[in-house]
Amino acid sequence: EIAFYQDKFVGIDEKVVPIQERGHQFGDGIYEVVRVYGGVPFLLDEHLLRMEKSADALEMKLPYTTEKIKEIIHEALNRSNYTDADIYFQVTRGISARQHHYPEVPTVFSLTVRPAKAIDETKRQEGIGVLLVEDVRWLNCYIKSLNLLPNVMAKQKAMAGGYYEAIFQRDGIVTEGSSSNLFVVKDGQLFTHPATNRILHGITRAKVLELAAKLDIPVQEQEFDINFLHQGDEAFITSTSAEVLPIREIGELELPRTRPITDRLAEAFKDLYKVKN
Ligand code: PMP
Repeated sequence: EIAFYQDKFVGIDEKVVPIQERGHQFGDGIYEVVRVYGGVPFLLDEHLLRMEKSADALEMKLPYTTEKIKEIIHEALNRSNYTDADIYFQVTRGISARQHHYPEVPTVFSLTVRPAKAIDETKRQEGIGVLLVEDVRWLNCYIKSLNLLPNVMAKQKAMAGGYYEAIFQRDGIVTEGSSSNLFVVKDGQLFTHPATNRILHGITRAKVLELAAKLDIPVQEQEFDINFLHQGDEAFITSTSAEVLPIREIGELELPRTRPITDRLAEAFKDLYKVKN
């Protein structure tokens, strides 16, 4: 496992984060997760662009150019020797005496490379169970912020109940998963929450929408409620690590076992990185 903190490679368990670091004190920072398939970071430019958007929204200046970040990523990947890996990288607002408002200090970049946590094939075939949880997050969910407490709490609740993922609902409107986006298939059409401030604009979500267009699957980016979700013919989550992952049950409710559209999209998504590598 490889780790990098503020200009140098460090040991993964080395104590490197100063007590006054704002990521630590306030969760004042942003992050990205990139999946590596066959030695190639998948959709890296898209992730870097989203990080720039998150940084802009928080008036945070990235400490390096994207070119330099790419160099660090490739150097880290070379050092790791992994062909399939998860790369996490963060930018925090830096190290400064504790005050709430933004200090004038350089931001800090950090990164880890770990072996990919692939989802086992049985789970992929069978589908996952999800639990609906109230969305108590703030209204800047498009920022990929380090503040994940509501997500952590939701996931804990789901896992404690024997479910794989928590699906958020805000005033009855289904938004997204605790670490994934959500899609429903109904009468041959694909539905997902629009890319507003209420969800993270998932890179996988965007790719799936592109694929749906290519496969002539009609798409509706519109709000829908819990009732609609329950009446779906198929449902699935998407994320960098889960890819396209079918949902088997929503709480007590079992969804149909045949999932023609989910299967097509999952296959088409796999082809994207198989072709590239
Ligand atoms: N929503 C949330 C809240 C997430 O944390 C994630 C994963 N980081 C996603 C959606 C999926 O985004 P992506 O496809 O870019 O991994």
